[in-house]
Amino acid sequence: MKPYLTIIGGGLAGSEAAWQAAERGIPVILHEMRSVTPTPAHKTDQCAELVCSNSLGNNLPHSAPFLLKEELRKFNSLVIGSADRHSVPAGGALAVDRDLFSQEITERIMQHPNITLKRDEVVEIPEEGPVIIATGPLTSPKLSEDIQRIVGQKYLYFYDALSPIVDANTIDFDKAFFASRYDKGGDDYLNCPMDREQYGQFVQELNNAQKVPFASFEKPIYFEGCLPIEELASRGPKTLAFGPLKPVGLTLPETGRIAHAVVQLRRENKEGTAFNLVGFQTKLTYPEQKRIFTMIPGLEKAEFFRFGAIHRNTYINAPGILTKNLDLKTRPGIYFAGQIIGVEGYVESATMGLLASLSAVRKISGEDFTPPPIETAMGALHNYVTTKPPKNFQPMNINFGLFPATEMGIRNKKERNQKIFDNALAGLTRWRNSFQQEVDSTV
Ligand SMILES: Cc1cc2nc3c(=O)[nH]c(=O)nc-3n(C[C@H](O)[C@H](O)[C@H](O)COP(=O)(O)OP(=O)(O)OC[C@H]3O[C@@H](n4cnc5c(N)ncnc54)[C@H](O)[C@@H]3O)c2cc1C
Repeated sequence: MKPYLTIIGGGLAGSEAAWQAAERGIPVILHEMRSVTPTPAHKTDQCAELVCSNSLGNNLPHSAPFLLKEELRKFNSLVIGSADRHSVPAGGALAVDRDLFSQEITERIMQHPNITLKRDEVVEIPEEGPVIIATGPLTSPKLSEDIQRIVGQKYLYFYDALSPIVDANTIDFDKAFFASRYDKGGDDYLNCPMDREQYGQFVQELNNAQKVPFASFEKPIYFEGCLPIEELASRGPKTLAFGPLKPVGLTLPETGRIAHAVVQLRRENKEGTAFNLVGFQTKLTYPEQKRIFTMIPGLEKAEFFRFGAIHRNTYINAPGILTKNLDLKTRPGIYFAGQIIGVEGYVESATMGLLASLSAVRKISGEDFTPPPIETAMGALHNYVTTKPPKNFQPMNINFGLFPATEMGIRNKKERNQKIFDNALAGLTRWRNSFQQEVDSTV
C-alpha cells in the first residue's frame, strides 16, 4: 500500500495540512470529530470553522500578518485562497463570510481524490506514522490524555496567560532604566517607575476597565501566582505596589531614591527588540490595554507586538519536545500543527499546518526537511516554536519582534518593514524552489 498521511483535526491547520500533502500526491486520511463529538465552542461540522471572529487579521501591506498571508499565497494555501475568495469589507483586515469560507474548504477537501475525510473522534495516537496532530485549543479530553501520556504531563498545558509584548523601538529610554532588583542579574530588567499619583490613576483605570468575558466553558482558573493584573488591582489599592509592581531593591538612577511603584519589562528575545510586561497577563479588551498600559511612564508611545490574554488553550511546550521537523524527539513521525504547537490565531495555525505537512511529505518521500529561512514570516514562527527556551515558552502570534534583529535596528518604521518584507519574500522564493518537485504540481 502506498504510504499515507494521517491528520487528526479538520480545523485551520488540519485542513491546510491535508490540502498541501494531497496536492503533492500523498494520500491523506483526515479525521474530524465534530459531527459525532462536539467541542464547547464550534457550532457546525464544517472543516476550518472560525470559532469566534470572522477576521483573519491585519491585511495592510508591510504588516507582519500581511507578510505571513503573502507567503501562504505563494504556496497556494487553501485557507488563504478561500479567505480571499470570500472576503467581506473590513477596513485593513482580511475578514470573511464565515459560512462560505468553511463551506468551500470542506467541499474542496471532500472532492480531493487524495483525501478521505473521516467523521470520527480519535482517542489514541495511531501507532503507524506519519501522523499530524492538529486538534487545536479544544482538543478532546480523551485524546489530550493520550497526548499527555506520550509527551509527559509537564509538557501539555490547558490554559495560557499571556503578557503584552512591546516594540523596543517605541519605549522611551529616558524614563525607563535597566536594573535588576538589588543588582542581582545585571540589566536583565527594564524598569518603568511610577510616582504615587501615576500609580493611583493606573490602579483606578484598571478597576474601571472593560474586560473580555469568559466563555461559558472557561471557568476562571486562576493560580495565585498568575492572576490577571486587573484582578490584583481589584483586591485593594496597595496590592500591585506590594506585588508585581513592588519598587523595593530598585533605585532611580537620577536621584538614588525608590519609586512608588515599578513596572518591570523583560527581554522577549536575545537581541532585545521586544519586551514583555512582567506579570501583566490580563482579560482587558485590546483597546483598554492600549489605553491603560500606555499610561505607564516610558510606554506612552509603545506599540504592541502582542496584547495580553488568558485563554482556555490546549498546547504543548513545543521547543522542549519537538525537532525542527515538527515531530516528537521521542516518537519521530508524530507531528504537531496549529494552535496546539504554541502559535496563536487562524493564519498562524494554518501556517503550522502547511509546515508540518511539507515536513511529513518529505519524510514519506525519504528526503530531509529544511525549515523556512528565519527571515521569512513562516521561518520566524517555526524558529519560535522550535528554539524558544522551553522555560519561557508561551503561545505566540506573528509579529516583527520574532524576526532577526538586523532590520529591527532601522528606526524608520516604514523603511524597516519594507526591508523585512523584501528579504522575507526573497528568502521564501528561494526556499520554495527547494521544494520544486512538489511545488511544480501546485504553482
Ligand atoms: C473560544 C475561542 C475563540 C477564539 N477566537 C479566535 C479569534 O477570534 N481569532 C483567532 O485568530 N483565533 C481565535 N481562537 C483561536 C483559534 O481556535 C485558532 O486560531 C484556530 O482555530 C486554531 O486552528 P487549529 O486548526 O489549530 O484548531 P481548530 O481550528 O480548533 O481545529 C481543531 C479541530 O480538531 C478537531 N478535534 C479535536 N479533537 C479531536 C479528536 N480527538 N479527533 C478528531 N478531531 C478532533 C476539532 O473538532 C477541530 O475541528 C479562538 C479559540 C477559542 C477556543
